[in-house]
Amino acid sequence: MRPAPGYAVPIPITPSYLALVLGLAVMFAWPPVHTWYFQWFLSAKATELADERRARVHCNTLFDTMLDPEMLAAGHASPVTGKIVLQKPWCGILMDYLSHPQRASEKELWSLGMFTHESMHVRGEMNEAKTECQAVQRNYRAAKLLGVPEATAKQNALDYYNNGYQERGRIGGMQSAYYSSECAPGKAMDEHLPDSTWDTP
Ligand SMILES: [Zn+2]
Repeated sequence: MRPAPGYAVPIPITPSYLALVLGLAVMFAWPPVHTWYFQWFLSAKATELADERRARVHCNTLFDTMLDPEMLAAGHASPVTGKIVLQKPWCGILMDYLSHPQRASEKELWSLGMFTHESMHVRGEMNEAKTECQAVQRNYRAAKLLGVPEATAKQNALDYYNNGYQERGRIGGMQSAYYSSECAPGKAMDEHLPDSTWDTP
């Protein structure tokens, strides 16, 4: 044992300190605590994205999803209660994205877009095309809030806009409800945010 700087004698590791550290390690390795913490973290970030309207994020388990009347939607949110539900396995996909944002898959970028989209519902918008366009412009902000480094956040948000979002327009059908050609830099739905995903011409 070597003393810590400024101490003449080493600081002994007491059994109670050891128990505390081990206890915390075990607790956070336990999946429900991990999910609980992630939900708490997402709730705080969604609230910021929703301009301080209180959001509560819940990650559905497979069982929750089976009982959810909106089980076919990957996620849903209520502007009245502020509750955001992400179905299985989307919380896990979002967690994967945050663990390696610089090599995000298309699906992982989709999970970021979904998180921002549901936050926009809590913010008060219910029209799907408008909600999605507000999300597209805030995905850069959202990724940064979730801890993604700035340059990667920008690239991820642009990739989603240029690929995932444009695809919605091409697929048509139900997806077209989430798409508008006016959702583009300088077009009608551009909110001219100072930290927008895109740069307004
Ligand atoms: Zn929606």
